[in-house]
Amino acid sequence: MVTATPKIGQFPLEVQDYFPFEPRPGQSLMANEIYYGVLANNHVAIEGAAGMGKTVTCLSSLLPICKREGCTLLYTARTHTQIQRVIEELSMIYKIKGRHELTGISVYGRANMCLNPEVQGAPPVEAMEICGELRKTRRCRWYEELKSKEIDRMSGCFTSEYVREYGLEAEVCPYYLSKELMKHCNVIALTYVYLINPFMRSILFKTLDTSLESCVLVFDECHNLPDLAMHTMSLGVSDRGLKRALKEYHRYDAAGKYPLILKFLKHFKGYLDQVQQEYGAHPEEIEIGVDLQAFIPYLATFTKQNGAKDLFVLAREIKQFGRHIRRLKLEAKQSTYSSVYHFGTFLEQFISTVKDSQYLHYMILAKDRIQYYIRCIDCRGLLRPLQRARSIISMSGTLEPIDAYLDICGFPQHTRRRVLPSPFSHKLVRVFAMRGIDLTYFSRTTPQYQILAKRCLEVIRATPGNTAVFCASYDVLESFLKKTEFRRGIKDLGRPFYSERRDFTSRQNQEMITKFKTKGHQGKKAVLVGVCGGRNSEGVDFPGPEMITVIILGIPLARMTHSVNALITYYTEQFGVYKGKEYAYTLPALRRANQAAGRPIRTLRDYGVIVLLDDRYSHAYYRRFLSHWINENMVILNDQDGVLEGEVARFYLSQQNHENNIKGGF
Ligand code: SF4
Repeated sequence: MVTATPKIGQFPLEVQDYFPFEPRPGQSLMANEIYYGVLANNHVAIEGAAGMGKTVTCLSSLLPICKREGCTLLYTARTHTQIQRVIEELSMIYKIKGRHELTGISVYGRANMCLNPEVQGAPPVEAMEICGELRKTRRCRWYEELKSKEIDRMSGCFTSEYVREYGLEAEVCPYYLSKELMKHCNVIALTYVYLINPFMRSILFKTLDTSLESCVLVFDECHNLPDLAMHTMSLGVSDRGLKRALKEYHRYDAAGKYPLILKFLKHFKGYLDQVQQEYGAHPEEIEIGVDLQAFIPYLATFTKQNGAKDLFVLAREIKQFGRHIRRLKLEAKQSTYSSVYHFGTFLEQFISTVKDSQYLHYMILAKDRIQYYIRCIDCRGLLRPLQRARSIISMSGTLEPIDAYLDICGFPQHTRRRVLPSPFSHKLVRVFAMRGIDLTYFSRTTPQYQILAKRCLEVIRATPGNTAVFCASYDVLESFLKKTEFRRGIKDLGRPFYSERRDFTSRQNQEMITKFKTKGHQGKKAVLVGVCGGRNSEGVDFPGPEMITVIILGIPLARMTHSVNALITYYTEQFGVYKGKEYAYTLPALRRANQAAGRPIRTLRDYGVIVLLDDRYSHAYYRRFLSHWINENMVILNDQDGVLEGEVARFYLSQQNHENNIKGGF
């Protein structure tokens, strides 16, 4: 249900005792929805634009209920920065509203909290095992020190950074200290994985000495939840990984104690080599399905011919040998990653998923490498146990259509749901969708790209600040730059130009983004070209002058690869013909477009223009998948020279007049 205008209404009485700020539009509506929804024992799903203050509203609405019922609030988000913000908002409630009974902590993994260099930065399972080894052999002095101390019950709000610094100063293990502290907390902020991963979840609840039934769960930015859940259960092994495993074997089993492991590594690699030879070198990455009818007997022959008990026993032995390698590496003060151990884990996953339709088995072939990949395509089984929680609150800026989210996660359709009205007025945000621009696959011709370049340059010319152009894919980006005079046009306009690249390292990309943002603050009107679904169009915020206009080139639909086709088939079986393709193919693409379009509008003070350069964005079918605030501010224009430029220029002129009026006191 959508309410027409955002209002500052009445908060539920109990919530008023917690809400620490001047209310913003939409917050009271959200508070009522959550408070009364949870009170009535419902799960709640909410879409609300970024910058409207969802975190503090959610906390204030849930805390009175949690307090009365003695529930713990587990607030999860995707990134560490997001969970730190939860504790910062909680501390505002603590300070401003004087709620000194509140205690909260943000939890970070062992690899980031640990003071031992051997553990720092290691993958989670490795970090856990090394830490276990160090504790068992009493070689971790910080752990020993912590054990010798009495830990008082502390109250207040602690970020993981604070706990780490405290641990460093007091010379005690920050990780186990935070585990002690969380036992007494009302609010625990943590990343999704603690609730998704069954093993981590069981450790969490054991530490807290509580049950799911006594917890309220929040999934913030929950549009990420299904992909992340499926990703945690997906795993691959490549020919390079197998080569490294063989090398490790020769190095650490000089006496040849485990000949079966060596033989099996070679046997498995032999299969990958065979497939690679069959398909030859591919300039572009391709996917092919694994012929399991042939591959399973291929593995079975090995066990028969070599007297191995079965694959599961073999996988366990490989992991054991991998653990032994890690121990030796730890003693030699080397990185403890073991390719043998990874292969053992992969083999276990292979055995447990090979007959499960929720997992796809396929090969990814590129120019000089091949990978066997096991991809989880259904997260409902993983998330099902969470439904035992007292309530689940899902919130995001891009959740429409909410039915699809609930279906994909397997959350009940009777979940209470609400799309909050847009807090961004038409005066501050303008969305232009261009009718007549066709960027469907077969229309990607040079003349079409030239028209796109022309429109982009028109928009950039009319924009008095930083602009980003996010393309549907890297292929579109490369064609766009190669087949047009876009770069030259930017140069002629005297604008600094930055372009995202597939082969950039995180550091190179970060440096580029910092430069782009700095130009915005300096009023240099820079241009950034990137891709939807890429590292800059999701997860990075560009508030204020860091970006004021964003152009989306095309709809970022995925290539029709083996895995995409298989996903459509599977979802069609699960949800029917109509929803199948929509959930597997259309919805993820429009989520990517939504995310990219929202980059410049991060706070209620931001203003800007979003240009959707593809006819399909103006169609009712595709508009269903766009965020409510984007739809509400959309103007559809017919494509013609100068039209877009005129509209964008008029919008920014009105902003300038508005600012001048404010400065001049009207
Ligand atoms: S006990 Fe703490 S400091 Fe010691 S290795 Fe484990 S996490 Fe690190």
